[in-house]
Amino acid sequence: MAEVLVYVDHLDGAVRKPTLELLTLARRIGEPVAVALGNGAADTADVLAEHGAVKVLTADAPEFADYLVVPKVDALQAAFDAVSPAAVLLSSSAEAKEIAARLAVRIGSGIITDAVDVEAGAEGVVATQSVFAASFTTKSRITHGTPVITVKPNSAPVEPVAGAGAVEELAVTFSAQATGTKVLSRTPRESTGRPELTEAAIVVSGGRGVNGAENFAVIEALADSLGAAVGASRAAVDAGWYPHTNQVGQTGKSVSPQLYIANGISGAIQHRAGMQTSKTIVAVNKDAEAPIFDLVDYGVVGDLFAVVPQLTEEINTR
Ligand code: FAD
Repeated sequence: MAEVLVYVDHLDGAVRKPTLELLTLARRIGEPVAVALGNGAADTADVLAEHGAVKVLTADAPEFADYLVVPKVDALQAAFDAVSPAAVLLSSSAEAKEIAARLAVRIGSGIITDAVDVEAGAEGVVATQSVFAASFTTKSRITHGTPVITVKPNSAPVEPVAGAGAVEELAVTFSAQATGTKVLSRTPRESTGRPELTEAAIVVSGGRGVNGAENFAVIEALADSLGAAVGASRAAVDAGWYPHTNQVGQTGKSVSPQLYIANGISGAIQHRAGMQTSKTIVAVNKDAEAPIFDLVDYGVVGDLFAVVPQLTEEINTR
């Protein structure tokens, strides 16, 4: 059976959920071989094996932390050369997309970004994307070389299944460009205690209807009752009510949670572009004609300041 390289997203050995989702997808195509780089790489092996990785290739060197992206591309290419995989899968993030693009150039292949599904086809791996603000679903196949595909978080379930998980150290020779861009400092973002927006299973968002930074407490309270991340429309972000890091949409983040709750958001196409692939969509809006209602699974026509606190209270009693 063909092997499939899975690039591991982890923080000091703690594997992020989107990587486990990639392992689910990789198993549909072949045998997952995980590539974990940097501090704590070896610590990822057990979790990866518990989710079906047949092999875990690890490498750690100061270059992975001290320089941007290229050392990781060098390492992924070394893994590619060692394995000759049927496909390379990465979880969609700004960094992973750059790694994927650089790798694809090096190996003379094509790249598909932000796939929402991946399957084995008669003529090779087929990736599904949701395009043009999610107005169309496309299926594409790389026709030249080994497909390099980035997959949006929350596109597949996490399925524990035992894999051999044999750990091998990967020998990496860094290229001349590896030390081209040095990282000068890292500032950890202040933790809100909420899940990362793009990885969260539930996202609760607020828009212009929230009508003020202080009123976002209502949105946050609902989010916290559900263990959800908080999102915001561009109108709310531009007004300075919520940070840009939480903006959902074309010029913000793209999310695909199990549940998306839009509060006081009209449903402009640029907002839809970032959330339309959510599995279940709920909206609270006082205007029954708001376009968001064309898209929802459940809609509540009402004032969010009346509806959302009741919802939060109800959830908190359960
Ligand atoms: P509005 O459209 O003003 O809607 C507010 C809604 O709140 C209304 O439907 C209203 O009925 C409802 N409301 C008001 N008060 C209440 C209340 N008390 N209770 C319940 N409902 C209430 N937008 C994004 O979101 N993300 C993007 O990434 C993004 N990128 C863009 C990129 C470009 C190039 C452009 C041109 C635009 C972009 N936009 C983006 C902006 C987008 O076009 C909309 O302007 C924006 O999404 C509107 O935000 P909103 O729905 O919060 O506000």
